[in-house]
Amino acid sequence: MDNHSGTKEVHPPVVVAWHALAAEQVLQTVDSSPDGLTAAEAAVRLARDGRNVISARRPPSWLRKLGGQFLQPLVLVLLGAAVLSMVLGDVVDAAVISTVVVLNGLLGFMQEFRAERAIAALAGTLVTEATVLRDGVPRRRPSAELVRGDVVWLQSGDAVPADMRLLELRDCEVEEAALTGESLPAVKHLGLLSPETGLGDRANMVFAGSSVATGVAQGVVVATGGMTEMGRIAGLMASTPSVETPLTRRIAGLSGLLVRWILGLAGLLLGIEFVRGADLVRSFNAAVALAVGAIPEGLPAAVTVLLAAGVSSLARRGALMRHLPAVETLGSTTIICSDKTGTLTENQMTVTTVWTAGGTYAIEGVGLEPQGQILLAGQPVDVSSAAALRELLLAGALCNDARLVGAGDDLALEGDPTEGAMVVAACKAGFDPSVLADHPRLDEVPFASSHMYMATLHRVHGGHLLCVKGASDALLPRCVDQLRENGSMGPLLHGEGNAVVEALAAKGLRVLVLARRRLPETVERLRHEDVTALTLLGLVGMMDPPRPEARSSVLECQAAGIKIRMITGDHAVTASAIASRVGLEGARDGSGRLVAVTGTQLAAMSLDQLSRIAEDVAVFARVAPEQKLALVRALQARGHVVAMTGDGVNDAPALKQADIGVAMGRNGTDVARAAAAMILTDDRFSTIAEAVHEGRAIHANLAKFITWTLPTNGGEGLVLLTAVAAGASLPVLPVQLLWINLTTALLGTTLIFEPREPGMMRLPPRDPAAPILDRPLALRVLLVSVVVGSVAFGFFSWTKTLGYPDEVARTVALNTIVVVEVGYLFACRSLIQPIWKIGLFANPAMWAGASAMLGLQLALTYLPLLNKLFHTAPVPWGWWPVMTGAGLTVFLVEEIRKVRRRSS
Ligand code: ATP
Repeated sequence: MDNHSGTKEVHPPVVVAWHALAAEQVLQTVDSSPDGLTAAEAAVRLARDGRNVISARRPPSWLRKLGGQFLQPLVLVLLGAAVLSMVLGDVVDAAVISTVVVLNGLLGFMQEFRAERAIAALAGTLVTEATVLRDGVPRRRPSAELVRGDVVWLQSGDAVPADMRLLELRDCEVEEAALTGESLPAVKHLGLLSPETGLGDRANMVFAGSSVATGVAQGVVVATGGMTEMGRIAGLMASTPSVETPLTRRIAGLSGLLVRWILGLAGLLLGIEFVRGADLVRSFNAAVALAVGAIPEGLPAAVTVLLAAGVSSLARRGALMRHLPAVETLGSTTIICSDKTGTLTENQMTVTTVWTAGGTYAIEGVGLEPQGQILLAGQPVDVSSAAALRELLLAGALCNDARLVGAGDDLALEGDPTEGAMVVAACKAGFDPSVLADHPRLDEVPFASSHMYMATLHRVHGGHLLCVKGASDALLPRCVDQLRENGSMGPLLHGEGNAVVEALAAKGLRVLVLARRRLPETVERLRHEDVTALTLLGLVGMMDPPRPEARSSVLECQAAGIKIRMITGDHAVTASAIASRVGLEGARDGSGRLVAVTGTQLAAMSLDQLSRIAEDVAVFARVAPEQKLALVRALQARGHVVAMTGDGVNDAPALKQADIGVAMGRNGTDVARAAAAMILTDDRFSTIAEAVHEGRAIHANLAKFITWTLPTNGGEGLVLLTAVAAGASLPVLPVQLLWINLTTALLGTTLIFEPREPGMMRLPPRDPAAPILDRPLALRVLLVSVVVGSVAFGFFSWTKTLGYPDEVARTVALNTIVVVEVGYLFACRSLIQPIWKIGLFANPAMWAGASAMLGLQLALTYLPLLNKLFHTAPVPWGWWPVMTGAGLTVFLVEEIRKVRRRSS
């Protein structure tokens, strides 16, 4: 143990060739030992050397980002207009245009800044952890807290958290592509290497930025953070959060296109006016007004804000988005391929049944509490006199890495739940943990889904003992005889065993085989070949109850036209029973049971067969992780948008291929998390269903915002064109249009606070290729634009006919546009549901926004200072009911249209 707490150690000034040093020398150099550091010493080193993070490349400075807001074509046009106004002597106009442009820029900057910050904060919640020895005990600590000298345990799927010299390993292969470009995993060993060995060949080291592909290893940290090879080579990692998605890019592109068109049109207008011999200043004003009014300058920023709000809301519901574009795809998901264990079920195993040559035992009690009777034919059993049962439970406790910690309410399991269930069962049988010490473990083959068993080698009196537990299909064929009740060996009760497997699985229980084998003392390392010629001890059935909310989520998704597929490593019959219990729909066999296709059957299928089967069958059992990739591809080939869950290192390719790769935040590996687009913080299926629901809501909000905001611009453009065509004076001036666009863009973001509409999960999934504005919506945008334009122009002309000056008529037109837009906004709260279905007051933020907007309009109309700045004038109060009537009419017409559309 380290005894240099508090001493100041300085990093060696020269780069040490750690790979050329013996392990003991390395430990000495970093002032550590095979037991690692004390927590106190680690804290001292952390304070001295800093956290183990590679600093991200500096994001562009806020000044640059702010500047970016002003370097857009539209803003430049406006600034040009301001300068020209100044030259033409209209100082007030120039000042107002510049102020509004600056305000608009600041607003856009603030919105994007907040969106980025929200997303960066989410990225920060994804803390990677490492298993590190502190005070000689393995602990899970955030990787950022690792220091030089820490001894770290790695297993397949772990991200390597720092540069380490390996101390021990087993079958360890490490994926180092990020560092060396080598696509195949590097095989590690402990041998000494020459100092000149290149980075890619340093087999006794592992480096930050790589990940463990297979096996396990232990190493001592030699460099952290910026001192790691990754920190030095890459210098700085690019991890600036991006708020860009295909949609925001498309919308930015659309705005760019609109800008060009409208500028072209404005130029044309200017030309026509010029040829007509109109007043140059007036023509210029008309052209600028058209450009200002018709361009939806606030749209891209608002879309970003809506997306970011959606991402935050998803995070609150337990789904962290790592890949922002997937937010858009979520709502279009047509099929969810989900793991069973831990996602649809609780992953809280309890052994309920044990079958041995002595009979079928029932074990009472649920959960971790190690209390419960063991019964045979309803009578309590004395385990000491039931040899086969006793040996089975002993083997289950030996071939096990889990342990119970704490007591009472604090009782918890450390390790795998399947193994924990065996520990609890052994405790119920009255096992004293000290018996384990009498069987020291010499070696082990850890559990992996690929071979489906775990084996351990123990020293026992008179030789070595191999204990193994695992799936029935993997182990039953390797058994040659069976332990009898009296402790003797007898022939295998094969037929009976298979029938028990089927019967337990049909009850939805996970079935495990326990077996053992005597080996000579000469065997010190375990190989897969040793797991043969086994003596069957018996079978255990474990209950893993479905999560209580899983069924309702499955039914909800299915009602929304989303298919659910269970893809599991478990037994076909178990999987099918659990699938029925959680309500999955899919092909059924003659006896009404959900058909389950196994990995072996999948392997024999052509791509065509596979894609047909994947469409109809709901349960896939004993599936190897590699087969998940084939399934995703087959489903995508049929046009599905696939969400696929995964937790293991081999799941990464399928997670990457899926439209939405979903990794588990609790039980998943770092590698799976890195490959996924979405991470479930609670590992639950219902969170995926929630996320899909939220994805639909986000999309709906975007569609509502766009459907609402475009008619403002369309209407403004039309008013101006009509006025110019009619040779009338301008109904709204550029500064007034700027005012409207700025304030309405703010008002529109209150759609974020719109509660989810009822019935969203009763609609079929959206076609991902469909435009956000489909034909009916585009038509509606056009229609409302015409309404806004004509009402505003109509009221403007009417006021003038009544003999009011231009300023008053303009103020009426301006207020009319705003009031009509507010009425239309309330109608856009749902594009399908009438107002009484969603509740008139369900979005208080919108009411507050609308009231604030009205206040601003009153100020603009009646405050002399604003009158001066914006060329407005007080309008007679009698106009307000008329304008409000126009807004209300638009609202009511839209509502009636929704009702008629629903009933047609
Ligand atoms: P999924 O999470 O994909 O729904 P799963 O957890 O049921 O599946 P695996 O973990 O691949 O699937 O397990 C496959 C089989 O391996 C199980 O049915 C069980 O028989 C056996 N098994 C699981 N865990 C262990 C373990 N720790 N030791 C030995 N055997 C195990």
